Amino acid sequence: CRWEKSKLSVINGRHKQEETMTKKRLFITLLIAIYSTLLGSEVTKYIRYVYQGQESYGILEGETVRELDGDIFSAPTLSGKTLQLSEVQLLAPCKPTKVIAVGLNYRSHIGNRPIPEYPGLFAKYPSSIIGHEESIIMTSDATDLHYEGELVIVIGKEVKNISVSEAHNYIFGVTAGNDVSERKWQRDDLQWLRAKASDTFGPIGPVITTGLNYNDLLLQTRLNGELQQSERTKDLVYDVDTIVSYISRYLTLFPGDIIFTGTPGTTKAMKPNDIVEIELEGVGVLRNKVVAAKDKKGIY
Ligand code: MG
Repeated sequence: CRWEKSKLSVINGRHKQEETMTKKRLFITLLIAIYSTLLGSEVTKYIRYVYQGQESYGILEGETVRELDGDIFSAPTLSGKTLQLSEVQLLAPCKPTKVIAVGLNYRSHIGNRPIPEYPGLFAKYPSSIIGHEESIIMTSDATDLHYEGELVIVIGKEVKNISVSEAHNYIFGVTAGNDVSERKWQRDDLQWLRAKASDTFGPIGPVITTGLNYNDLLLQTRLNGELQQSERTKDLVYDVDTIVSYISRYLTLFPGDIIFTGTPGTTKAMKPNDIVEIELEGVGVLRNKVVAAKDKKGIY
C-alpha cells in the first residue's frame, strides 16, 4: 500500500510537471502570437498610380487605396481620399535616380562557376523601369530574352558608406522585380548595356512593402502559369544589408533608388505574347506581357 501511494505521488508529480510545461508552452505561443501581431502591424503596402490623369502615391489595404499627400520617402500624410484598386492604373511603385543590380547571387544560379568573392554589380537605367501589367518590349533583333525573378531593395534615405549592421535603417522596403536580360547581347557586347538596361527591361512592383523580414521571403517566377523559379531569399550569397553596405562604399544612394539582388535557379527564353509573373512573399504578383517591338530590323 505504501508502495502504491509513493507510485501515485510520482504519477501526480509527473502530471503536475506536464501541466506546468503545457502552461509554459501556451504562454510562449501566446507571446509569439502577440509579437507577430505587433510586427505585422508595421507591414504596409505602398503603390504609385494614376487616377483621372493625376499621379499619386497611396497605401493599399486589401482592395482599398488610401491616397497620400507627398511622396512616400518624405513623411507623407493621408489626404483622406480613398479609391478602389480597380479604379486606378498602377505605375512602377517608385522613381529611382539609379538602378543597380547584383549578378550571380544564388548558388542555384551560379552552378559550377566559382562563388564571387564580392557582390558583382552592374547598372540598369531608370528608363528601363516599368510597372505591373506594362509590356516588356522585345526588339526584332532580340533572340534570347530571359526573365530573372528577383527581390528588389528600395532605399529610403540618402546614404553613403554605411556599415552592414546599420544598412537596414536606410532600406525603405522591398518589391518584386524582373531583371530582363538578353543573353546573346550579354555574351556578345562590350558591356551589358543593351542586354540589361534597354527600355522596359526592369519591371518592378506591384507594391513596395515595408516591415517584412526581407532575409527570408519566398520568391517565385511563373512563365505562362508554369512555375520556373522558386527559392527563399535566405539563400542569397550576399544578403540585403551586405549589398547595401557594399554599394554605399562607392555610390551615394538616394530615396527611391533600387537594387536588384540576383536571380535563383535557371532561366528560359521568352517570346512575344508570353506572360511572366514574379511573386514575392508579402509583396504579391508582378505580371508583365512580352510584346514584339514595331521597330525596323537592319537599320544600323
Ligand atoms: Mg539579375
